Amino acid sequence: MESISIITLVNKNNPLDSEYIPSNMRLLDLKYAENDKYMVIEAALNFEKLCRDASLEGNQIIAVSTYRSYEYQKKLFDYYVKTRGYKYASKCSAKPGYSEHQTGLAVDVMGSNGDYNLFEKAKEFNWMRENAHKYGFILRYPKGKEKITGYKYEPWHYRYVGNKLALELYEKDITLEEYYSIDQNQIK
Ligand SMILES: [Zn+2]
Repeated sequence: MESISIITLVNKNNPLDSEYIPSNMRLLDLKYAENDKYMVIEAALNFEKLCRDASLEGNQIIAVSTYRSYEYQKKLFDYYVKTRGYKYASKCSAKPGYSEHQTGLAVDVMGSNGDYNLFEKAKEFNWMRENAHKYGFILRYPKGKEKITGYKYEPWHYRYVGNKLALELYEKDITLEEYYSIDQNQIK
């Protein structure tokens, strides 16, 4: 499978090959990551810029999950099925091949309150809401769009799509799914 583009849609209807591994990744600066975290170079660069600028305003944004391999996602999904059941697992975790984390373009973040699950309550969440798009990132699974994205609200999960598209999605207040369906309607 060829390298995917920064705007490629990956969701429950658009999986990646089980063999897909981004070729152009590097480690994030450990200042902005919980431990060794890989991202596609362009996304890594912009994420570090975002974290640096946020920190200048007293915010502490840390990556807790970035690239996840197909095998890792499989273990994660199987673990949720085993502990919480299939229905919960498929709502809260992606099946292997269907996770955006396999693209190397997605990042789960935590703020100064130290728990990504509580990111919405961290002051850093507000900073992200106002600024993430300036660095090419979008809040990928917003509140109220669960039926469109297929995922529950995830205030901690951001996807790199580049500045141009991030700005457009931010201004129109639409998801990546809506962007593609609007686009296709215009072509028809
Ligand atoms: Zn995530």
